[in-house]
Amino acid sequence: MRATVMYKAGDVRIENVPDPKILEPRDAILRITRACICGSDLWPYKLLPKVDNGQRMGHEAIGVIEAVGAEVRTLKTGDFVIMPFAFSDGTCAFCHEGLHTSCVQGGFFGTGGKADGAQAEALRVPQADGTLFRVPVRADEALMPALLTLSDVMCTGHHAARSGQVGPGKVVVVVGDGAVGLCGVIAAKRLGADQIVVLGGHPDRLSLAREFGATEVIRERGEAAIERVRALTGGFGAHSVLECVGSEQAMATALGIVRAGGHIGRVGVPHYEGIPALNPSFYQNITVAGGPAPVRAYLNELLPDVLEGRIQPGRVFDRTVGLNDVPAGYRTMDRREALKVMVQP
Ligand SMILES: [Zn+2]
Repeated sequence: MRATVMYKAGDVRIENVPDPKILEPRDAILRITRACICGSDLWPYKLLPKVDNGQRMGHEAIGVIEAVGAEVRTLKTGDFVIMPFAFSDGTCAFCHEGLHTSCVQGGFFGTGGKADGAQAEALRVPQADGTLFRVPVRADEALMPALLTLSDVMCTGHHAARSGQVGPGKVVVVVGDGAVGLCGVIAAKRLGADQIVVLGGHPDRLSLAREFGATEVIRERGEAAIERVRALTGGFGAHSVLECVGSEQAMATALGIVRAGGHIGRVGVPHYEGIPALNPSFYQNITVAGGPAPVRAYLNELLPDVLEGRIQPGRVFDRTVGLNDVPAGYRTMDRREALKVMVQP
């Protein structure tokens, strides 16, 4: 079969690799019907040191079960499923607490670990019962992009909103206008936020943010953005800030605009040493929460909204490629010519 392999920063190839096989009794083989390229894939695309045998890429997918191991109980061949970006057993203490990304038998797809990547024709999924989420109804073809976002970005935006304590009456600022930031807007509106402000630089994305429910968009950056938010909030700042980028500047901005006693929900994979402004955040009783979204824990809540069309996160995809054009997909996303690229193997 064909799969996406990254050898070093900027070097992504489609290669013929052995078909995946059941290795453990709880494995399933997933035939991938749609995958995509993530903003977080752009970090290795910029920074990955040379990997001798390459790293299999991709952690977002939906697809159909092709085979199951002897101990898989809840899934069968032919089931249509959403694949969260992390695998988890569904039985350990952390899974029971809804923190599947800390599963004691868990791990992440497409990071060079125990599981391969989803930008491929098929994939071996460890701990299939605890990982894959069976879509219980026959979903319309038009819903596939939205269902695909439940594998990562929609659940990640929701996790930012939950970690940032978004709720009715709150002023929310979303830092970042990538796919996760836009899903953060959807999540904030869904959870009843009063005012939703988005910080971004890209006119098309900001107009989509408005369609998703943003009440204000701010194109300034750094200090100028902080001043604009302060001006919009009577000088106090926002109750909830969703940090959806992962850069030091984005975190510094988040700390600059959060209100005393407020919450920052961070979901951008951090690429910096420490959280800045430690002293002001202490004296203002600011909470910084968040991390990788426990996607599996959120699907019961979010899936009905997608199936019934109440939220339309599938609109974040603005390009679709076949597997052979995945390297070009990375290039267009890296140049910010595409917001999010869907892959149809
Ligand atoms: Zn677990």
